[in-house]
Amino acid sequence: MVYPRRCPSCGRDEPSPEQLYSTRAASDGGTPSPWRPEQPGRILDLRCGACWALFRWDYFGSRMLEMIKEGDPDSISEAVRSDE
Ligand SMILES: [Zn+2]
Repeated sequence: MVYPRRCPSCGRDEPSPEQLYSTRAASDGGTPSPWRPEQPGRILDLRCGACWALFRWDYFGSRMLEMIKEGDPDSISEAVRSDE
């Protein structure tokens, strides 16, 4: 529900972020859910489908915690060109 509006690496703005990002890992931690403050929040490792950046996301806090691997939009655009 609270995915990044824009990719922190390539800045791509996607109207349906759940289609842009894939969840590589999930663990407890970060900001607790507003309706269950006694339980731990959720930390997701998200991969951007546009630039392949991998970053750690505080789901309920709606903020990036750590850039695990920067994306590379240039290599992706080359791949797109070779597909044509
Ligand atoms: Zn990206």
